[in-house]
Amino acid sequence: MGIPFFYHTDFASYDFGPSHPFQGSRFDRFMQELAERFPAVFARLDIMQPQPAGNELLELVHDRSYIDRVIALEKRRGYLSVDTQLLPGSIDAARLIVGASTAAAREALRTGLALGFGGLHHAGPDYGEGFCIFNDVAVAAAALLKDGKDRILILDTDAHQGNGTMDVFIEDPRVLFISLHQDPRTLYPGRGYADEVGEGAGKGYTVNIPMPTLSGGSMYDLALDEIVFPLIDAFKPEIIIRNGGSDPLYTDTLTNLGLTLDDLSRLMRRIAEKAKAANVPLVDLFLSGYGPYVTEGWLAILRGTLGESFELSLPEQMKFIPPEDRARIERVTRAMIEYLRANLRPYWSIF
Ligand SMILES: [Zn+2]
Repeated sequence: MGIPFFYHTDFASYDFGPSHPFQGSRFDRFMQELAERFPAVFARLDIMQPQPAGNELLELVHDRSYIDRVIALEKRRGYLSVDTQLLPGSIDAARLIVGASTAAAREALRTGLALGFGGLHHAGPDYGEGFCIFNDVAVAAAALLKDGKDRILILDTDAHQGNGTMDVFIEDPRVLFISLHQDPRTLYPGRGYADEVGEGAGKGYTVNIPMPTLSGGSMYDLALDEIVFPLIDAFKPEIIIRNGGSDPLYTDTLTNLGLTLDDLSRLMRRIAEKAKAANVPLVDLFLSGYGPYVTEGWLAILRGTLGESFELSLPEQMKFIPPEDRARIERVTRAMIEYLRANLRPYWSIF
């Protein structure tokens, strides 16, 4: 049996217009590239068609009044936020993505690993922004809570912090939300500092890891070893929902994290190996990325998650980073990690 991969041709309608950095053509392009360039890898996947999420599912996360507002806005091509216009068909496509991520999460519990296009993590209970209409990651987690699970890890590796997902579960200790993202002082959404650790009963269950610009893969390794993996051992999740696309790549046009394709693959491979070693099902969702090499980054993600080693390359060279800058980035990262561990110490004895 193949690895479940959720995909629908109607994902193409998740699109924000011709001059927008998020183009709906990315999904079909990825499937085509994968099938043509790496047919043996494509053959490992079991392509499954998702069902659109109905209001009942969306309402596990979103207020009914918000859903009604979104529907009304789409009718007049209105804006959810300055960067997110609702065009005809975008709600149906968003419902499909939510349905896909939820189905993938349930499938992963059965098979150990499932994949799909997802990660609309900037939509919160009563708002949508940052190209995100409904939060598929949060709905998938909420659906599993409703199914009776009570230890879910959401591991968000998107370059942008997952403010929507954070807001949904900010007081909920059943969902450990860990976000690795570019320093919010330098990137949208400007949230996710190391001292934001959750609220009320959820204190300690929100973990923000703000990475300095031009971190590169070795600083991500450090964050995994010092923060993420110890938390996985201590929390013992019943499932890991990982989300995030190719926007940590050095070629991304909106961000500055400086990861190579190999860095991105290694990050995913290490997460997948950790999940396997801990016997935790993994659902892997990607969808973000901006500029000309979005799908190349997705291929790197898939390569890492599946433990494959096929060749990938980018035509643009990465900017040279002088050794003194590298040393400074490492100092800043180590200081951030120390500060974060101190913030988490009241809630986690491992720190
Ligand atoms: Zn992003």
